[in-house]
Amino acid sequence: MPKQPGRRPQPLLPGLCNSALPDNFHTDCVTFPAVSLKRRIAIIPGDGIGKEVVPEAVKVIAASGADVEISQFDWGADRFLADGITVPPGGFAMLERDFDAILVGAFGDPRVASNIHAKEILLGMRFKMDLYANVRPVRLLDVALCPLKGVEPKHIDFVVIRENTEGVYTDAGGVFKQGTPDEIAVQEDINTRKGVERIIRYAFEYAERHPKLDGSPRKRVLMCDKSNAMTHAGGLWQRVFKEVSGEYPQIQTVHMYVDALCMQMVRDPRQFDIIVTNNMFGDIITDLAAALQGGLGMAASGNIHPGKTSMFEPVHGSAPTIAGKNLANPFGAILTAAMMLGHLGLAEEAKKIEAAVLAAVQQKRTTQDVGGAMGTSEAGEWVARKVAGSALPNSL
Ligand code: ATP
Repeated sequence: MPKQPGRRPQPLLPGLCNSALPDNFHTDCVTFPAVSLKRRIAIIPGDGIGKEVVPEAVKVIAASGADVEISQFDWGADRFLADGITVPPGGFAMLERDFDAILVGAFGDPRVASNIHAKEILLGMRFKMDLYANVRPVRLLDVALCPLKGVEPKHIDFVVIRENTEGVYTDAGGVFKQGTPDEIAVQEDINTRKGVERIIRYAFEYAERHPKLDGSPRKRVLMCDKSNAMTHAGGLWQRVFKEVSGEYPQIQTVHMYVDALCMQMVRDPRQFDIIVTNNMFGDIITDLAAALQGGLGMAASGNIHPGKTSMFEPVHGSAPTIAGKNLANPFGAILTAAMMLGHLGLAEEAKKIEAAVLAAVQQKRTTQDVGGAMGTSEAGEWVARKVAGSALPNSL
């Protein structure tokens, strides 16, 4: 439980340039200057590589000239270890009230074995702010990034829409007779009619409103479950999918069991437009999908409730083994920032950022995980300069 009130963002700092962030960026709540006060963005870098990649995303947002005001919060393991606070009292209400969007890094730190802070902050945001649609675009930017033979960028452009507030992640269940040979662990899988219906409808609406990058329409929505084994929950998903799809006769429907889907994602990822699925299957298949686009360091996501303050985060976690070494790929976080700007109606800025990341990948101005030789901050700097249209020195 929180022990003391949370710190609030401080007044605007003078004169922050695009590439230089203040020394206290990682620890304190600071507010970055903005061109105007139009879009208010809360930044929570969190733990591990989140603290390295989010500053790069912030640099790039600033370089894009987006009309935003950015405030940073220090929620994460360091803060929790210092004062026992995971989420300050009223924290989620404050985010909803005072911000248009939230950009998050990652949570998880080996010093907090229970992972309680990650659970309370990240799952807290998803559940308590009811961010029910986890949207994870899967796009191949360059042929060199895909481990599959003969697959080109035009072949991989699909979106996984993961239910984000139910399933096995609600922590319903319990352990009985713990530590005895008769121990029993129960993990409940919660599926409500309302929850299943709204995520499936979101998937169809998304298909209608978001054409592929090449401008072609998304014609198919695939629902993935394991209804042959998990009959009760699967039955509900099957019935709702059939009902809701009736409202969208122009969109084809496909069904696959999750195991078959994993195989098909490797055999032929060309066939997918939109995949909608539950919380756990969505979590698992998006790591597989990330591998198709160059790995976890390249994957972006949004946690969305239409009309409410939504939260955006790279798909990767805090990656403690590479944290603090300037090795983490910042492009997942940067593409996440672009997705957030697009969501806020700043489509031009989002496009500029995506184009700059594409150029970086094509010119191998990347971190090692995707074939380059740059560090996190150098790769971020390169993209920021490209976005700003400034000269790129050879050393970068
Ligand atoms: P979580 O459970 O929080 O999702 P995880 O344990 O599944 O986290 P990550 O923390 O995402 O996994 O990282 C797993 C591995 O993937 C890392 O150890 C690292 O090798 C690689 N990885 C993840 N993100 C990045 C990145 N941005 N750049 C480079 N490598 C990364």
